Amino acid sequence: MRECRRCLLREAAEEDTYKSVMEKVEKIPARDRAPEEVYRTRLAACAACDHLLAGVCMKCGCYVEFRAAHSRMKCPDAAGKRW
Ligand code: SF4
Repeated sequence: MRECRRCLLREAAEEDTYKSVMEKVEKIPARDRAPEEVYRTRLAACAACDHLLAGVCMKCGCYVEFRAAHSRMKCPDAAGKRW
C-alpha cells in the first residue's frame, strides 16, 4: 500500500485490499447503511482531513470507506468531529 496522506483506500491500496473492504461494506444490512449521499459527503470530509493516511483514519484505525458506510458511526475525532 502506498503511504498516501489524504488518499482514500480506493486510491492508495492494492486492489485486493480495496475489494475486500468493499465486500465488507456490501455485507452491512441495508437498515444500517448510510445513504449514498451521506457516504460520499463523509468520504469527502475524510479526504480533506489531516488524520487520514492511506485510507485509514489515524484516530480510530478504521478504513474510512468502511466506517463511513455505517449510518450510526461518527467521526472519532473528539477535538472536532467532521461528520
Ligand atoms: S478523523 Fe474523522 S474526518 Fe478525519 S479521517 Fe478520521 S473519520 Fe475521517
